Amino acid sequence: MPPSVGRPMRSERGPACRCPSAPNGFAAVGAVLADRKAALSMLVAREAGKVLIEAGGDVQEAIDMAAFVAGQGRAAWGTVHPSELADTIAFTTRHPVGVVGMITPWNFPVAIPSWKCFPALLAGNAMVLKPSEHAPACADAFVAACTDAGIPAGLIQVVHGRAEPARALCVHPGVRAVSFTGSVATGRLVAAAAMETGPRLVSLELGGKNAMVVLEDADLDLAVDGALFGAFGTAGQRCTSTSRLVVHPAVADELVGRIEERARALVLGDPTSPSTDVGPVITRSAADRIAAMSGAVTRDIDGGAYVEPTVVRVDRSHVLAREEVFGPVLAVIEATSLEDAVDVVNSAAYGLSAAVYTRDVNRALRAVAAIDTGIVYVNAPTIGAEIHLPFGGTKHTGNGYREAGMRGLEQFSETKTVYVDYSGRLQRAQIDNRPPPPVS
Ligand code: NAD
Repeated sequence: MPPSVGRPMRSERGPACRCPSAPNGFAAVGAVLADRKAALSMLVAREAGKVLIEAGGDVQEAIDMAAFVAGQGRAAWGTVHPSELADTIAFTTRHPVGVVGMITPWNFPVAIPSWKCFPALLAGNAMVLKPSEHAPACADAFVAACTDAGIPAGLIQVVHGRAEPARALCVHPGVRAVSFTGSVATGRLVAAAAMETGPRLVSLELGGKNAMVVLEDADLDLAVDGALFGAFGTAGQRCTSTSRLVVHPAVADELVGRIEERARALVLGDPTSPSTDVGPVITRSAADRIAAMSGAVTRDIDGGAYVEPTVVRVDRSHVLAREEVFGPVLAVIEATSLEDAVDVVNSAAYGLSAAVYTRDVNRALRAVAAIDTGIVYVNAPTIGAEIHLPFGGTKHTGNGYREAGMRGLEQFSETKTVYVDYSGRLQRAQIDNRPPPPVS
């Protein structure tokens, strides 16, 4: 275990909820990441198989997160409240939790560590990052950019491996909070391990079964573009990938035909080539699992495992209508009305992202209200998070925390409630000073 784990960060840092290098330190981190963007993007493409424009987007999110967090060091850290007592003020402040253990997936190998590390640093914590075993070099390069920019050595440490170091972080008495992003199955193990020697704060950002609803009045050109980007971008390996297309029967045949035609034209191949649309999936076993679930065709290109973008029409009980695939497979389900479509969307155990395509603002907003996910898009695909907005999901997708935006700080800080009584006499709260009602 790295030496800083267990160090009493709280008492060293005092009550101020800020990284010593904030806010200018984050601007420096952003600048170093921007200087290295081309090399980092190439590394993401090579290690995670993301095509270059997606790899660049991954790195850009970290740059954007650094800029966002740099501006938050002077933002409101608490709230001020009136008190029920006279001559009393009440307010809240935020404080570091101490040392945070972070366990991250491979599919956003720079962005997700930044979503966790920057808010955690801003909140005044130290951290140990356990990145995916499939993208270790990206994590090392991200942390090197932070330390080269002046983040004090030791505040972000890295341990590599798979389950064993992750578990060690979860049970270590010096680790006060665990922030996990990955699959539901692993998230359950992580949460259980974190409670063995806990309780401790555990935030879980887990899988999705994201649906795009296309009503009969939708702009079909827009819906085709959205479905292609949402379902087959990043070879379907985003937590927010469009995995279900819930479509009205009146437009289903036309829409599915046009998506299939465009999908056939997508170029699979070397993710570092600008002409490639779809890169490989992360491992050969992932390709085999996706093919077994969906019947998709796998290909070997220069030693990489590829899955052909696949559209499958299924009924609502089919495994493709319910389970996360995490590959370029779009399951099509017909729904006869908005209400029926919302029922299909909400039938999944997950609740990350959804999209609704319609020209009718009333129906769009009814869908927004009725869909049970953490993120809803109107006339845009299910992917495309922005770092200043909360990110996360309902049901099996998470346990209520959100990443990014100001809510991203919650998992990395404790709230302290302060009462200041300046009356100079004892005032008793939670005491009923009114006379008791007569006993009948
Ligand atoms: P994964 O669950 O296999 O691995 C995630 C992390 O857990 C990795 O660091 C891995 O090494 C570690 N790990 C593996 N086995 C472990 C164990 N037994 N105990 C503790 N840690 C263990 O997930 P993945 O394949 O890297 O990523 C894909 C999954 O992540 C998908 O389900 C996707 O939807 C989800 N995801 C969610 C979000 C989100 O914000 N909700 C974002 C990205 C990915």
